[in-house]
Amino acid sequence: MEIFLGPAGLPLSSKGTSTIDGIKRVSELKLNALELEFVQNIYLNEKYAKEVGDVAKEFGIRLSIHAPYYINLCARDKRIVEASKQRILKTAQIGEIINADAIAIHSAYYLESREKTFENLKQNFLEILDKLRESGISNVRLGIEIMGKENMFGSLDEVIQLCKEINHKQLVPYLDFGHIYVRNNGKINYREIFDKLKSLKLNHINSHFEGVKYNLKTKKFVDIHTTIDKHPPFRPLAQEILKRKLNITIISESPILEIDSLKMKSILDELRHQL
Ligand SMILES: [Zn+2]
Repeated sequence: MEIFLGPAGLPLSSKGTSTIDGIKRVSELKLNALELEFVQNIYLNEKYAKEVGDVAKEFGIRLSIHAPYYINLCARDKRIVEASKQRILKTAQIGEIINADAIAIHSAYYLESREKTFENLKQNFLEILDKLRESGISNVRLGIEIMGKENMFGSLDEVIQLCKEINHKQLVPYLDFGHIYVRNNGKINYREIFDKLKSLKLNHINSHFEGVKYNLKTKKFVDIHTTIDKHPPFRPLAQEILKRKLNITIISESPILEIDSLKMKSILDELRHQL
């Protein structure tokens, strides 16, 4: 069992602004994961990526990447679909160089029916996986993120189903516990989530964790990230992970990034698990 914790993006307390400064800060904080945010643009070039990968290896930090937000594999405009594929491929290419284990992808907005969205995505992911093979990218995994917003693909069940049908070791679900909590409007059953994942036989689970906001007017939880507290709760997740001896990376997408990674770490400490 190995548990990796770290922030989504460079730590707020990082002394410099480079990715390498960020990796060093993560290490000083005694955390062991870092997700690089390519959400606005793919900011690493190949040469610097190589250096980033070496430094991460030296410091024992597990890297992942969040792919650009501007991706919609089900857009009606074919040019947008093509550009989305290119962004995923480019992210995967850098991911392979830095030795990232997975990239988180917001894959698509729903089309008029869920079935059509599913078939469309399946086709596109198969094509992307072919391109990965042609480009010799054989390690980094594409993580289809579980989304919290209702108009975006996909729920946990949909993403698991898609991964199952494609059945490729480089296509995995990318969990987001806050998003799952929003989808279920304030409920989460960690046992059930890991039971569902079992069929995929993953040797490592990638995930995001953050608090989510409650809208008093609509009486609904919304996908606005807040600090980690009770919605969703972290302790029962930690207990379930330890009970099952899972290998997992949990990236903090809380607004206070590494401070909440440290909070998760202290909860694991209390449960007698050392990173
Ligand atoms: Zn995301």
